[in-house]
Amino acid sequence: MRTTPDIAVNLQPIEDMIRNLLIPNMTGHTIRSDLQRSLFSLPAKLGGLAIINPVEIADTEYKNSLMANQQLTEHILKQHTTLNTNREAGKAVKSAISLSNAKRHESLKNQLMNDLPPLISEKIPHACEKGASSWLTGLPYEKYGFVLNKQGFKDAIALRYALPIANIAKKCICGKDNTYNHILICKKGGFVNSRHNRLRDTIASILEKICNEVVVEPTLQPCTGESLRPGTILDDGARLDIAARGLWSPMEMAFFDIRVLHPGAKSNANHNTPAKMYMKHEREKERKYGDRCVQIEKGTCNGLVFSTTGVRGHRGRYYEKAIPVDELDLNLAHTTSDEDRGDDVDDEDEEVGDEVENVEEEVSEE
Ligand SMILES: [Zn+2]
Repeated sequence: MRTTPDIAVNLQPIEDMIRNLLIPNMTGHTIRSDLQRSLFSLPAKLGGLAIINPVEIADTEYKNSLMANQQLTEHILKQHTTLNTNREAGKAVKSAISLSNAKRHESLKNQLMNDLPPLISEKIPHACEKGASSWLTGLPYEKYGFVLNKQGFKDAIALRYALPIANIAKKCICGKDNTYNHILICKKGGFVNSRHNRLRDTIASILEKICNEVVVEPTLQPCTGESLRPGTILDDGARLDIAARGLWSPMEMAFFDIRVLHPGAKSNANHNTPAKMYMKHEREKERKYGDRCVQIEKGTCNGLVFSTTGVRGHRGRYYEKAIPVDELDLNLAHTTSDEDRGDDVDDEDEEVGDEVENVEEEVSEE
């Protein structure tokens, strides 16, 4: 592509193989439309899979290559015996090429957002969030548990693009259809508990490396008439997900409560930006337990919110900055799972369960 002009038409057989063999075998899904193929050609950070279409980009790649190598070409044509290129000019050309590609990709993404069916186009903004494509672009270190097996990878692709998931029961244990949305929101289906508890145990195992007194599901001290902010949970036996001493400051107890939200839930549809969606859930957590943690436990309450798309909220980023991950010898591949512990998630509100049912019904109607 970069060395031969006007080669696009000759690359069609390669594109046919990519479209009809490579993508179906790799993702477990056949390409149903040109729009879907274009979506997969976008960079991962723009919601795609970075599987290029050589026919579409051949001419652009050739022109870019001519520009990038202009100085070298002139050297060869003039038979210079020493290499004396203008580095600043070379950098400027590379920047211009990057900018041009970025604009082309952004334009394609916006076009696809308009043209793709809503069930898929609505997924694109969430696939574009920072962290949502890490599983596609990160190295699959087995040591860290970053490895998906063949079926797991195909399932993850299905969830990313709201595609049918292979080899699952048509009906959920609750009796409803096992649609893409329902799987991610039904408490009886098992995934809601599983993802929450795995995150809780993973975060606890990281905190154990750098904090003291790490406790999973710590019971809060009882309230005995303290004046706490309206909305605070006052129940005896109330538990948060993790407590750890010494994260923010020496001897101080930091309490963490984890929520995994699903962007497809009805109550999450009204936020102007994903950032506001995460912030709302973080504040909700802290409103329920924050004052009790501060006034009675003399600690801090930290709502950690994650998304089913693999994104973490604002507080999660703050927490990650406090942890010297690079200096830790982490082995998260075998983190204790919910099945091992045998306990239940208790952080999801009934409100979320209700909205989940609504979403499921909406999807069924489409
Ligand atoms: Zn269900």
